Amino acid sequence: MWWIANRKSAIPLFVVDNSGVQIGLKKWVLAWMTVATFFYVCISASASPVTDALVLALRRTQASGVVVDMKTGVVIASEGISRRGAPGSTIKPLLLEYALEHGIVRPETEVYCHRTLHIGGRALACTHPADHPVFNAESALAESCNTWFAEVARRFSGPELEAALQAIRLLHKPMNRARVGERQLVVLGLDGVSTSPIELARAYRDLVQRAPPDGPVARGLEGSVNYGMANSAAVSGVRIIGKTGTASEAGETWTHGWFAGAMPGRFVIVVYVPHSDGGTAARLAQTFFRAMLGEGKLR
Ligand SMILES: [Zn+2]
Repeated sequence: MWWIANRKSAIPLFVVDNSGVQIGLKKWVLAWMTVATFFYVCISASASPVTDALVLALRRTQASGVVVDMKTGVVIASEGISRRGAPGSTIKPLLLEYALEHGIVRPETEVYCHRTLHIGGRALACTHPADHPVFNAESALAESCNTWFAEVARRFSGPELEAALQAIRLLHKPMNRARVGERQLVVLGLDGVSTSPIELARAYRDLVQRAPPDGPVARGLEGSVNYGMANSAAVSGVRIIGKTGTASEAGETWTHGWFAGAMPGRFVIVVYVPHSDGGTAARLAQTFFRAMLGEGKLR
């Protein structure tokens, strides 16, 4: 910083005595140094272990993610460009909890899954194993069975689905007069509904706070991470609940992936990955959880 030391500068920086010896800095220099120090301290303090973990998880990817404090709802970390997209299967637990609370479906409702499903000319085959083809609410959520949730969509009337979507606060097209195929695509998160990482994180925070901890939604989300479609997010010895989603936008040939999950009582995390799938999003979330464990913040 030569100009600070340059006594012959056009802008005098120093206070000098009668003999020309420097005895201090000008008041405005001190003021600027104080301001700069203040902002440096603020910026340093804002880099939290949660932000560090999220940055580590998403580095060298195009993914975006957000972490929300479970108790306060405050965003405690956010990385990447926030994008919107169809939520895919991450919408299933949100609508399932509403359907259970309103008697539209029951926890023990069973559906036999042939693993083949076609809606409006779209092939929506299930990807879960074929060994247990009869699903109830909990197992259908854990294995993300499209056939089971397509049946739930049949049981929703248009006005009921409209009310459910308003309750979970996701942007959607009007559902009051929607036909069964439209309702099914919405319940599967593939068309007619849109979300962003922060909107989905807030919906999951509401869900985790509202759903009974031993109910089919909580157990299904825990099963999803422990043995189901979100297993890539699992960390041994840590209770994590969550759901993956894979969907594409109208006119796009590529899919995007979601992971929406939580450590109950602590935080919700949502990861969005363009040109990818839910399994990839779950793996990035796992990196986040492991980084947090490395920081000693989770145990
Ligand atoms: Zn299925």
